[in-house]
Amino acid sequence: MSDEKFKKVLSHAKEYGFVFQSSEIYDGLSAVYDYGPNGVALKKNIRDYWWRSMVQLHQNIVGLDAAIFMHPTTWKASGHVDAFNDPLIDNKDSKKRYRADVLVEDYCEKIENKVQKEIKKAKKRFGDAFNEAEFVSTHPRVVKYRQQKEDILNRMARSLENEDLADVKNLIEELGIADPVTGSKNWTDVKQFNLMFGTKLGASAENATDLYLRPETAQGIFVNFLNVQKTMRMKIPFGIAQTGKAFRNEIVARQFIFRMREFEQMEMQFFVRPGEEMKWYHHWKETRLNWHKSLGFGDDYYRFHDHEKLAHYANAAADIEFKFPFGFKELEGIHSRTDFDLTQHTTFSGKKLQYFDPELNKSYTPYVVETSIGLDRMFLAVFSASLQDESLPDGSSRVVMKIPAILAPTKVAVLPLLKKDGLPDIANKIIDDLKWDFEVTYDEKDAIGRRYRRQDAVGTPFCVTVDHQTKEDQSVTLRDRDTMEQIRIPIAELRQHIQDKFDLRNWLK
Ligand code: ATP
Repeated sequence: MSDEKFKKVLSHAKEYGFVFQSSEIYDGLSAVYDYGPNGVALKKNIRDYWWRSMVQLHQNIVGLDAAIFMHPTTWKASGHVDAFNDPLIDNKDSKKRYRADVLVEDYCEKIENKVQKEIKKAKKRFGDAFNEAEFVSTHPRVVKYRQQKEDILNRMARSLENEDLADVKNLIEELGIADPVTGSKNWTDVKQFNLMFGTKLGASAENATDLYLRPETAQGIFVNFLNVQKTMRMKIPFGIAQTGKAFRNEIVARQFIFRMREFEQMEMQFFVRPGEEMKWYHHWKETRLNWHKSLGFGDDYYRFHDHEKLAHYANAAADIEFKFPFGFKELEGIHSRTDFDLTQHTTFSGKKLQYFDPELNKSYTPYVVETSIGLDRMFLAVFSASLQDESLPDGSSRVVMKIPAILAPTKVAVLPLLKKDGLPDIANKIIDDLKWDFEVTYDEKDAIGRRYRRQDAVGTPFCVTVDHQTKEDQSVTLRDRDTMEQIRIPIAELRQHIQDKFDLRNWLK
């Protein structure tokens, strides 16, 4: 995968009504995007797929929809006011702004690329006899590269932890890191930058309250812990799931919908007994990976990245990384958050956020295991892995979106072969029947081959074609997006025939 693939993703997303730049007629707003008709349908289907797997299929997980605005003390308690920062650095010549930590990480990625090159070379040389683990632990150049990388990352982690931003700048200068766009090494000092957007609540300037747009949905769940537990009589272990918008004033936002300033999260906080969090942490790591794999893109699209450096609230954390067109990057986080959040909110609010465990006959502050995924990032994952340029046996090619059928924006396109002879009427009757179960669309423009291609390009799993034979024997042609096979089938059997493809059982069971 490459830059070229990424460019294709961008242009396809726009051309076929999936994603538009926000306020495009005013030249857009950086890192903010709008979803078009096909995009909103795909996004909704991904959200539903997540929601059903979490809430519908788990008797001990319930939903919540907390407001975006929250009492400002929430963000004091959660640590976001003091610590939700990224270190930024500006280049004085190019006036471009970067995340200092990302500049250093990218530098280390280049060292790692050298390691991978050595491994590839050695693999070729030694063939089947190649032992990768032994090679990387003994080959002098590889050992040196890996040590170098580790030293750099350790030093940066230490400096950031100690708030020694001068040393982060020193590191960038010592390594000779240049502005990736212009090559200039003329850097400003490193500064901390809080990622929360501020706003004001209230009619007059004097008594307005300073608020933040939430930077994550999780806190809405924590502050409602008792409301939900008591009203729904939940017994530990149980979870609360929520989807909704979050806002971050990201410093660098140049990767389409991978990193946005306004985005949507799908989060689930699972409350457990203290001491049992590791069991559940592993359980949810596995469960979430399986959810991703259920979509059928193939195992090599995913890998775990276990965090060595943990956030102040976590005692274990891992990312599920996805192979995006620009490499493996975080798609979802699974975090064991201990009792940090509930304890903090107890301290700041004075309300005891505890649970009485009837089996243990005592009260405690539950521990939390969180699964947190960006809906837009998941959209990009599905979109980029689905988009394919396929060569066909007859020497031609087609652009096809192999979107997992259950997520496809449109499930069935109904196409009258001709715009006359009563064929459109029959097609519309079929639509009137199928629309109760599936997202359907009608298309009568252009030759049938071009219409098939159009449906391929937006990922419609089935096309139904109405022709003259239909008038005689009530049968239609059913075309499969992936195999391009066409079969003849009675209209009366259509629904029965296709519904298996969209049955949640066949995806998640
Ligand atoms: P990153 O390291 O990429 O900035 P993060 O570790 O800050 O992400 P979390 O705070 O763990 O991310 O958020 C959980 C999930 O929310 C991420 O895995 C990602 O899918 C999504 N997410 C976070 N920030 C953004 C963003 N700016 N745009 C889109 N999705 C995001």
